[in-house]
Amino acid sequence: MKALYEACEDKNKADLSIGEYKDGEGKSMVLNVVREVETDISERDDLTKDYLPIAGDREFCHYAEKLVFGSKCKALNENRICSVQSIGGTGGVRLAAELIKKCAPKKIIYIPDPTWVNHKSIFTRCSLEIREYGYFKNGFDFLHLIKDLKAAEEGSFILLHACAHNPTGTDPMPDEWKQIFDILQEKNITPVFDSAYLGFATGNYQKDALAIREAVSRGIPCLVAQSFSKNLGLYSDRVGCLSVVCDSEKEAENVFSQLKAIIRPMYSNPPTHGSLIAGTIFANPFLIRKWKSEMKGMSKRIKDMRQLLYRELHRKKTKRSWDQVIQQIGMFSYLDLEKEHIEKLRNEYHIFMSPSGRASISGVNYGNINYIVKSIHTVLR
Ligand code: PMP
Repeated sequence: MKALYEACEDKNKADLSIGEYKDGEGKSMVLNVVREVETDISERDDLTKDYLPIAGDREFCHYAEKLVFGSKCKALNENRICSVQSIGGTGGVRLAAELIKKCAPKKIIYIPDPTWVNHKSIFTRCSLEIREYGYFKNGFDFLHLIKDLKAAEEGSFILLHACAHNPTGTDPMPDEWKQIFDILQEKNITPVFDSAYLGFATGNYQKDALAIREAVSRGIPCLVAQSFSKNLGLYSDRVGCLSVVCDSEKEAENVFSQLKAIIRPMYSNPPTHGSLIAGTIFANPFLIRKWKSEMKGMSKRIKDMRQLLYRELHRKKTKRSWDQVIQQIGMFSYLDLEKEHIEKLRNEYHIFMSPSGRASISGVNYGNINYIVKSIHTVLR
């Protein structure tokens, strides 16, 4: 879709397919805190280009664990969590899948319907048996989800989006998460949290990690793949962290060895640049504050654009309710449009979104809102 958008020469074109944050002028941006750290790094003469260890930068992983689990986390303080640096969030999910393939007695994973398209490809590549659970049908389908979990195979795995579910922008409420974890505990099903949008959804990392922290505090073993692509804007630096929460310190040591044995023949060791930037920020409370403030800014701009889109569609009395635009969270909104509308928007109005109707609200700004609304209004007329 990106290539189609770039090749399009229409001056009104709008890219709502992107999974990258764009600023109010539709431009890509580098966070100020990242620029600052990169400048400092460029002036340091103690840094080399030596290989990182197989499991990556230990300090970075340590801080990434503290971020997601909280420094008071019992499992963390009992050394029951092992972590490795991953090649972005994708790499973390892939390592999780490889670990399941290598070590789990039951190689079955449940994924939400719908989900991020790459999940199926990753799990298929690792020869896992994929089963779907109901998640969204004209809105969050909690009853379907619960029914499917109750029927799920004991000892299997389940992919959960930690927050800002992609593509639907719809998450369970805190009480619903509790009901989900009750069933997982009962059936000994291990969650794999895909955590690509922590901090980006509400602007608050802790709040966005609520489901993960609830699972870990209940003593549920789980796998957590964090990505720092969106929340730090480090898309091309490929930085993430896979953590495995185990039952004991001994088990965590064994899992850590298994992960290293998976990584070594796959890519030997991860790259330094992204983890150095992220680790430097995470180690410094002053830089963390700066980062959090910028993260809040990105999250707020998206929320503002949701409100604007909703208001303008209503102002024009465009068919349908559009409630989902302001109810959903994170980068994406699942617009209530049919295939023919999505194609017409792309082919005739040069508004690009994914074929499922998933629109990246990050692509909306004050400069293109009128054109986007007018076009949606016209195709629905
Ligand atoms: N999981 C989900 C749900 C995502 O939306 C994305 C990014 N589109 C990823 C994982 C991959 O993240 P990364 O770019 O860090 O590999």
